[in-house]
Amino acid sequence: MRKAILCGMTFAFVLLAAGTVCAQALRPNRIDILYAAPKTEKLKPVYELVRKERVLEKVRDVLRPLRLPRRLLLKTEDCGGDSNAWYDGEAVTVCYEFLDDIWKAAPAETTPAGIAPIDTLTGPIADVFFHEVGHAVFDLWKIPVLGREEDAADQFSVIIMLNFRRDEARRLIMGNAYQYKNDVKSASITMPTHKFADEHGTPSQRFYNVLCIAYGADPALFGDFVSSGILPKDRAEGCEDEYKQVAYAFKTLMGRYIDRKLARRLHHGWLAPVDRRPPLRQEP
Ligand SMILES: [Zn+2]
Repeated sequence: MRKAILCGMTFAFVLLAAGTVCAQALRPNRIDILYAAPKTEKLKPVYELVRKERVLEKVRDVLRPLRLPRRLLLKTEDCGGDSNAWYDGEAVTVCYEFLDDIWKAAPAETTPAGIAPIDTLTGPIADVFFHEVGHAVFDLWKIPVLGREEDAADQFSVIIMLNFRRDEARRLIMGNAYQYKNDVKSASITMPTHKFADEHGTPSQRFYNVLCIAYGADPALFGDFVSSGILPKDRAEGCEDEYKQVAYAFKTLMGRYIDRKLARRLHHGWLAPVDRRPPLRQEP
């Protein structure tokens, strides 16, 4: 059914399918950012670090092509000890505690898997923002989500990462996967049953999902995930189909909301040089 609706403050009636967002009101460059000052001393170093590294500015830059119906605020703040991140229907919030945990987990040297220290920061930080912005755009664009929204938000993040130049995409994916390292370093894990009730997949599942979608997108670039045995062959066999399904959903449901011309210019040289050493975190 088609119906005429009034778009924002314009006086033109636009024909749109019922339930879609108003095409007239959609614009790129609608992300705002805010570094809220932390209340506690111990979060000051991470606050200074993300400001100095212009983390929010960089995230805003890469998300410029999203054509949003309103402005969307991305902010970092002190969450009173809660290491978390969320989209609350208004803004995306990432806690300094969460960013500090990422910093805490960064190694001093390149990992045996070949992940540079800088990428162990960049990958998880990019992921938390892309994931939360995924929740935001599902809401703002009224995207129908089949399956768990948490999985869809993870997939949104991985698809954004795979749109970067190949060398940067690989660094982002490897850094993203690094955040789950503690959960996959042993051959088996034990966890309380109630943990499976969580709306998110388990960290191990999220780890394999990231690797699978990346491998399915580019088996040459990510072929070592399989040859090294990190991504089991049984799962890897279906990854091309898994990737195609996600990419098709992304393109079909969200392609029209992304300024492709703008996006093409932004996915190059976004990451810091791979040999750049992040500052070592001092225990407060
Ligand atoms: Zn989420």
